[in-house]
Amino acid sequence: MLSKAAALADGAVAAAILGSGVRDLAARAGSFGARRVFVADDPRLEAPLPQPRVDVLAALVREHGVGTVLFGQSVLAADIAAGLSARLDAGLNWDLTDLRSEDGRLVGRRPALADSVYAEVGWRSEPRLAIVRSGTFEPSETGGEAEVTEVTPQFEDFSLAATMVEQAHEESGGPSIEDADVIVAGGRGLGGPENFTLVEELAKALGGAVGATRAVVDAGWYPYATQVGQTGKTVAPKLYVACGISGAIQHKVGMQSSSVIVAINKDPNAPIFEYSDLGVVGDLHEILPKLTELVRARKSG
Ligand SMILES: Cc1cc2nc3c(=O)[nH]c(=O)nc-3n(C[C@H](O)[C@H](O)[C@H](O)COP(=O)(O)OP(=O)(O)OC[C@H]3O[C@@H](n4cnc5c(N)ncnc54)[C@H](O)[C@@H]3O)c2cc1C
Repeated sequence: MLSKAAALADGAVAAAILGSGVRDLAARAGSFGARRVFVADDPRLEAPLPQPRVDVLAALVREHGVGTVLFGQSVLAADIAAGLSARLDAGLNWDLTDLRSEDGRLVGRRPALADSVYAEVGWRSEPRLAIVRSGTFEPSETGGEAEVTEVTPQFEDFSLAATMVEQAHEESGGPSIEDADVIVAGGRGLGGPENFTLVEELAKALGGAVGATRAVVDAGWYPYATQVGQTGKTVAPKLYVACGISGAIQHKVGMQSSSVIVAINKDPNAPIFEYSDLGVVGDLHEILPKLTELVRARKSG
């Protein structure tokens, strides 16, 4: 985000680093293009809660007349950007996949209609707020040094009303679905959460990660972090094995760029077969254990 911002603003870019024990990041921000870095290092900024961050950013924007605030996409960034938009009465464009300057105006590119078309978006007033899809821009380490300014945060009472009660990290083995070369994904055809072990076993045998459809995530069978599709993650592994997945358009847009798609479904008319390289018509409860066994045998042989 910083590298792109530096290119667009001809170097006149500041970074804001908000958190607890984050001072050391200022030098890194400098080496990726920030000319100035504002550091708000405060224990009350430790929990990933949006409102205290909105306080700090709103004050910075007002004090320094910042024209544009860019965020890399994350759940927290979306919360902060929305809060900042409300606080400053500023326009927010989100889910951007490009940003460019046209006759001195900032223009964003935003995919729409399940990523099938692109819309050009702009802002009518300053400050302009934008959230850009993570991974959109290449980082470019220019090695510069930034002028670091310590900021003393002033928090609104209501901003400190929410506290983090507990933070837990999910235990995960194997690669995440963003990095995996192989994804074995499960859908409602599994019949119940307990049958995800069939998918997990095959994924393990193939050295891959487990994905899921929204139907099973909504039903609480599997965590949201594994959801593939329009409202989940977009993935492009070398191999995508879809098990008991009908292949709805909203799922398709998240996995259609996979190199090889294999579908296992008992319904020969399931839409997933229309865009699979290999289709197996049958009951996954019979096929998956056998397939896993074969993969294991092949790997050990
Ligand atoms: C705005 C919006 C956003 C959405 N975003 C997403 C998204 O990000 N990701 C996503 O996945 N969905 C998304 N959806 C939902 C999507 O439309 C589908 O409802 C969902 O993908 C269906 O999930 P599924 O394939 O698991 O279930 P189903 O459509 O119920 O399909 C289950 C399949 O399993 C097969 N089956 C059943 N039993 C067996 C068996 N024993 N052996 C083999 N096959 C079997 C059936 O033949 C069927 O094809 C979105 C929907 C909307 C409206």
